[in-house]
Amino acid sequence: MSSRSYQGRHAGRHRAGSRVRLPRAFSAGFVLPTTAAAALVVTATGASVAESATPQAFALTGQQTQIAQTQEAASEATVTEIAARRQDATMQSAALLGRAEAQRRAARAAVRQAEAKAKAQAAAEKRAKTWVRPIHTWNITSGFGWRWGKRHDGMDLGAPTGTPLYAMSQGTVIKAGWEDSFGNKVEIQYWDGSISWYGHMSRIDVQAGQQVSAGQQVGAVGNTGHSFGSHLHLEFQRTTTSDTPIDPVPWLKNHGLW
Ligand SMILES: [Zn+2]
Repeated sequence: MSSRSYQGRHAGRHRAGSRVRLPRAFSAGFVLPTTAAAALVVTATGASVAESATPQAFALTGQQTQIAQTQEAASEATVTEIAARRQDATMQSAALLGRAEAQRRAARAAVRQAEAKAKAQAAAEKRAKTWVRPIHTWNITSGFGWRWGKRHDGMDLGAPTGTPLYAMSQGTVIKAGWEDSFGNKVEIQYWDGSISWYGHMSRIDVQAGQQVSAGQQVGAVGNTGHSFGSHLHLEFQRTTTSDTPIDPVPWLKNHGLW
């Protein structure tokens, strides 16, 4: 209790009627909360304000005013806080929704990327495992087997000198160079283990150990070695270490080239 309100109470009690000390709440510019103001008005409009209204009542009313003010301020603060919290919550949920959406988008993008990668890989594998003919002009001039009392270990494909010759699929060049009656020769082992020999070539464009892909040019048709007329001697072997030729026709059929 402040000394001023103590004096105020005593002033009211001892000098009632002569001079009523109004609480600060009645001074100009002092805004009262509605409930507190109403309480004071009722008191103030009483028959004899100074006599009936005890200074204690004014003092209590003043306290009530303070409480009301505090409560109003508190409720205003609460409203402000609730609004702020609501905004925060809205922003947070928006952020969460945004994050969730971003995550979903990222997940979808990752799936699409993985799918594209798998597709590209599958396409690359398919391309790598594709089989193509060694020569575009498919003109068989001599087949596999016995001819003129001698075994022919491959098939001959007639074509002008310089006609491009291609690797039949993905594989490795195991030999590239001159070999007796074969003349210029290229041996390739493919990804499935198959081995092809190209003979009588006019030109060789690859080296032993080189990786080749389906349709890659490895040289050109020629008439080198034991050959009478420009052609490709095409031969297939079982192994890289022994001369064990196989009939080209079934092989070509098995590889979709016949
Ligand atoms: Zn031949």
